[in-house]
Amino acid sequence: RSAMDAARQVVNFSAGPAKLPRSVLLQAQKELVNYKGLGISVLEMSHRTSDFLKIINSAETLLRELLNIPENYKVIFLQGGGSGQFSAIPLNLIGLKERRCADYVVTGAWSAKAAKEAEKYAKVNIVHPKLGSYTKIPDTSSWNLNQDASYVYYCANETVHGVEFDFVPDVRGAVLVCDMSSNFLSKPVDVSKFGLIFAGAQKNAGCAGVVVVIVREDLLGFALKECPIVLDYKVQAGNGSLYNTPPCYSIYIMSLVLEWIKNNGGAAAMDKLSSIKSHMIYDIIDSSSGFYVCPVEKKSRSRMNIPFRIGNVNGDEALEKKFLDKAVELNMISLKGHRSVGGIRASLYNAVTIEDVQKLAAFMRSFMQMHQS
Ligand SMILES: *Cc1c(COP(=O)(O)O)cnc(C)c1O
Repeated sequence: RSAMDAARQVVNFSAGPAKLPRSVLLQAQKELVNYKGLGISVLEMSHRTSDFLKIINSAETLLRELLNIPENYKVIFLQGGGSGQFSAIPLNLIGLKERRCADYVVTGAWSAKAAKEAEKYAKVNIVHPKLGSYTKIPDTSSWNLNQDASYVYYCANETVHGVEFDFVPDVRGAVLVCDMSSNFLSKPVDVSKFGLIFAGAQKNAGCAGVVVVIVREDLLGFALKECPIVLDYKVQAGNGSLYNTPPCYSIYIMSLVLEWIKNNGGAAAMDKLSSIKSHMIYDIIDSSSGFYVCPVEKKSRSRMNIPFRIGNVNGDEALEKKFLDKAVELNMISLKGHRSVGGIRASLYNAVTIEDVQKLAAFMRSFMQMHQS
């Protein structure tokens, strides 16, 4: 078998950077050296040319279309990743109110990091009793929102712990800020409920290097004076994300992914697929009589990242190693759980197909038959 055929059979369940649609990679390959007959690559194109403006404008137009983004929101493309936004958010928004405090909902590793970073610039209030483990969303009736908070922050999908919101929290008119890095474009979203949404591209919308920020216009212009200018939303929005050189190639790849999503039925179609794919795996877990164990409470389970243990609730590490080794033999890669939680994690982003998930499901069934006592 040729190397090309072998490569085609690899199923990538990585949590990020993650699988991209094959057609996107092939188009990028085709256009790499000679972009649309211009004789140069996007990699060597000035960001001030009309050709690049077409690319960045197309990315923005597609995003606006796919998420139905209202006109009073700016779409900006920044660097620094999702983690850069952990700083940019307090630096830009804490000045919205005098008290310089912010409300955080902490449901996993990523929102915990965001809250910790915000403490450098703000008084941080965790709105709910602290969780002993990240396996659920604390009941919203237990949330204690602070009237003086400049914004309320949460993470829509915790990539490491597999906890996902299936609702938009009601924050009674406060400015709602959301990290959608790992479930961006996996379902339609009512942008008008948010003050700001951000998403790093490398999970569900492209490759590493660019983070999308969707921010309501009236929230611009409150940056602290010590906010780095490249992270200042007002400056970047005012310059069409071109205050300085943007991550041109990552924006180009994102535009291809957005086009692929549009051609495949948009966010609503991704929503249906996500539901089907994640149920295929959760159904096996739930009918395995405890052979597979997902620690997350059912109603907060992520459709994007499915963490589970094998053998018992704490995981039989020898059995889990066997599972991972066998999976690699079968060309299913990156199923190892995050180093902080161990076990297995299957990430089922938009580009992961039903066939990919069927392959994993079949393997999980046969592995269980061989090893269940
Ligand atoms: C990956 C991830 C981040 C961090 O992204 P970087 O680009 O590595 O900084 C933040 N939030 C969530 C939910 C993520 O999945």
